[in-house]
Amino acid sequence: MAIRNILKEEDPTLRKVCRPVTEFNERLWQLLDDMADTMHEAGGVGLAGPQVGILRRVFVMDLGDGVIEAVNPEILSTHGKQTGQEGCLSFPNQWDDVTRPKRVKFKAQDRFGKWFIMTGEDLMARCICHETDHLDGVVFLDRVGEGK
Ligand code: ZN
Repeated sequence: MAIRNILKEEDPTLRKVCRPVTEFNERLWQLLDDMADTMHEAGGVGLAGPQVGILRRVFVMDLGDGVIEAVNPEILSTHGKQTGQEGCLSFPNQWDDVTRPKRVKFKAQDRFGKWFIMTGEDLMARCICHETDHLDGVVFLDRVGEGK
């Protein structure tokens, strides 16, 4: 178990667009394990690569039913809207209302490179959008006031 440092607020790494993961090797597995540990330790429900200084398209989330690892995630379709409080481990103590889709269908690869498709609703939909945004250098504060 290894806890990585979570980059905060004005760190320029949080604003970079991440590159796809191309190698599904032990280095990736170590990263995913560390990201899950770091997320749990910090009490978050999601964590994306750039938040630990890795500019690769990868995130982890855990909404209470176990860790979901998403490598090279891509949102396929969205449905409906929800507006609610959102926060981020990189912006401690900052919370604001963000409008997100109510339901999100996405595809991603697992740690071995196998593609899967998953649908998330409510908090999971919010989390998928939030984490996918991180991979494009977008943080939740950019979304405040959008799409209401
Ligand atoms: Zn975040």
